[in-house]
Amino acid sequence: MSLLDISHLTVAYRTRSGPIVAVNDATLRVERGTTVGLVGESGCGKSTLGKAILGIIPEGTRVEGSIVFDGVDLVAADEATLQKYRGRNLSLVFQDPMTRLNPLMTIRDHFVELIRAHEPETEKEDAEKRAREILAAVRIPPDRIKQYPHEFSGGMRQRIMIALALVFRPSLLIADEPTTSLDVIVEAQILELLRSIKREFDMGVLLITHNLGLVAEYADEIAVMYAGHLAERGGVLDVFEEPQHPYTKGLLESVIDLDTTELRSIPGQPPDLLHPPSGCPFHPRCPSVMPHCSTSFPPITRPREGREVACYLYS
Ligand code: ATP
Ligand code: SF4
Ligand code: MG
Repeated sequence: MSLLDISHLTVAYRTRSGPIVAVNDATLRVERGTTVGLVGESGCGKSTLGKAILGIIPEGTRVEGSIVFDGVDLVAADEATLQKYRGRNLSLVFQDPMTRLNPLMTIRDHFVELIRAHEPETEKEDAEKRAREILAAVRIPPDRIKQYPHEFSGGMRQRIMIALALVFRPSLLIADEPTTSLDVIVEAQILELLRSIKREFDMGVLLITHNLGLVAEYADEIAVMYAGHLAERGGVLDVFEEPQHPYTKGLLESVIDLDTTELRSIPGQPPDLLHPPSGCPFHPRCPSVMPHCSTSFPPITRPREGREVACYLYS
């Protein structure tokens, strides 16, 4: 059984102008001890998928399908069950630590509050001891626990956020653009750290990012999203070597053109999810488009072991 097994997940926000189907019939698995990189252009539904796993989406949002974590379907679970998992077995790291850390609270207070929220009977000293251990694990000198968030650099603050996310040793960590606001050296340090902790804790990681280079370096598998749909999935090396979906090919080419060393991007814009194109949502931009591509969504096929692609070129 997979650690996380998302099956036919649809998430539709309710807005005044109509529903926005931000995740559309998505199927995805994360195994223990592996990192899945979830990539795609801005607005394609990556964060929505991450938030749906934690059940932190606005009330009134339509959620269909299943998200089975540790044998429990989180879509069908009640709020009390979700609360039990959230932050403990399932944890989330966001992009911007400064908006999540309270400037008026010391690092120690953050940990004590968090630990007591889940385990109210914990003594302050015990909570601090656990906090010091996990701070050491993310390479923050534990004695700095008495300091306030502004006394740390951006990279250190993000490591503190990761420490907060790891305090209960979750089995799944969702890292949503965890290093976007950091420079490349600090980014590499943070991702190295996540990699070593992933091994130590035998944790599954869903790494949400725009950055294909990070996925190439730090993920085991890649899932490519387009307009709420999962376009392609597979092992990182396999997909990078031989992308199959025209969108994946475009994304990989848009990183850098090795012949001209110019940055290229896929012509056109991702669709407005209020008015998505019919059929395959990539068809208005696809260089391989065929007449039937605009009639219905292509079936998911498995061109070979460990690979899945939703494109008529392979069905
Ligand atoms: P980015 O790379 O910019 O972070 P993303 O892939 O994470 O983008 P989401 O944030 O999941 O994309 O958004 C997917 C779609 O859902 C977008 O069209 C967005 O405008 C819409 N959306 C996100 N949150 C809400 C909300 N609370 N209510 C209505 N629409 C929303
Ligand atoms: Fe292109 Fe058609 Fe494949 Fe969509 S289904 S990616 S439009 S070839
Ligand atoms: Mg996002």
